[in-house]
Amino acid sequence: MKTKMFLAALAASVPAYAHAATFTICVRANIQTTDSGIAANGLDEDYYQFANQAGGFEVVGRGFRVQLTQGAWSDTFDSDPTNGCFSVVRNSANGFGVRVYGFATDDNGNHVRIHSAGTDTASWYPGATYSAVWSNQTLSSSGTNSYVLDGVANDRFTTIAAAAFGIHRYHGTISDKTISFGFVENDCDNSGSTHGSAERYIESDDAHLIRIGRCNPGDPDTREKMLITHELGHAIARLHFGYDGDDILPTGDQEYVPPVGTPAACVNVGSYGMRSLEYNSQTFKEGFADFYSSRVWNAKDSRGTYVYRQTAYDLEQWDTSGGGNTSGGVKVNVCNNNTSNVATKGDWLRFFWDWYNANCASQPSDNDMLTLYRMVRENDRTGTYNANYLNFDNATVYAIENSIAGLSDCEIDVIGEYMDWNSAD
Ligand SMILES: [Zn+2]
Repeated sequence: MKTKMFLAALAASVPAYAHAATFTICVRANIQTTDSGIAANGLDEDYYQFANQAGGFEVVGRGFRVQLTQGAWSDTFDSDPTNGCFSVVRNSANGFGVRVYGFATDDNGNHVRIHSAGTDTASWYPGATYSAVWSNQTLSSSGTNSYVLDGVANDRFTTIAAAAFGIHRYHGTISDKTISFGFVENDCDNSGSTHGSAERYIESDDAHLIRIGRCNPGDPDTREKMLITHELGHAIARLHFGYDGDDILPTGDQEYVPPVGTPAACVNVGSYGMRSLEYNSQTFKEGFADFYSSRVWNAKDSRGTYVYRQTAYDLEQWDTSGGGNTSGGVKVNVCNNNTSNVATKGDWLRFFWDWYNANCASQPSDNDMLTLYRMVRENDRTGTYNANYLNFDNATVYAIENSIAGLSDCEIDVIGEYMDWNSAD
């Protein structure tokens, strides 16, 4: 009897509109880049190619983390990596706080985030994660409620949207990793992935740090989507390898000095240029990061375009003559010397793209490509095939022929041809 009376009193006190309702919230990002839609040989990339336009380009906020509050209630959600949405059931539509973090998750539980601690690498999870907040929100239960990160006004949100798309598009088999992006303030193009202890938390914390150059006014790396995912590619490759430390860079690397009389185009410019001649220890790892980034922004089985520092490079043709010179790289077609073990990262990028799209019944998968990177390093680590600064062509052939399970004979047989074709040796 008492219970009945209590329930009756409770029912009388609950307003008629306060039944449970489902609210769907969708995260989006309006991004503003400086390296989108730039064509090489008449072709540009396949994704976010309109993001240079004035006013920005609105994209799905894939996997973004959102904190909802309502009165004393609080809960955290990750939006769906495909459509950027999630749903919550509440008794009232009013008084919501919505905080969207610069933090995104892919469908393997890997995370990218932007943080406030700059180039600090003393922790595997430095600083506070940037976020945007909307307070006192009334949500609709009859449609979706969109919250848009403003990457036009705030370049950091363009960076995290590009990184979120990158990890969504290409993570292979890795899972539950954390990649934190810090910003180098007032230094437009100072980006990288090996400062301090950036690559020293792989074994202990499944984590990697990246720094991205930022400036205003100016032309910050924070708005170069392909540069952001190039650095992400270094991190993903190392996390997939699974051991701390920089890529193999044996003593004597990088500073290739061409013979006297070599054309200027062949000279090592010391700046990771797409057409700068380097020992192939360098072009292997940089070309791989370029490949990762190219894969993020281009569809498989197609021509593709990679933009580095505002200049577009064709993933199939070494030059920009509209197809007049389709084989070979800088070494063969411009420098015309026979120096082996020296190449450009552009040569390796085209080699990786060719092998990924091999003219075979079956083709290497996203994860096969990461495994190629991993096994070159793993074979060196175990002494199975020791790498040095000028044998990464042979180390690559060895890994493909011996160390990657499940490749077809065709996928293995084409390797030498593609390397020659692109001058990646
Ligand atoms: Zn790099």
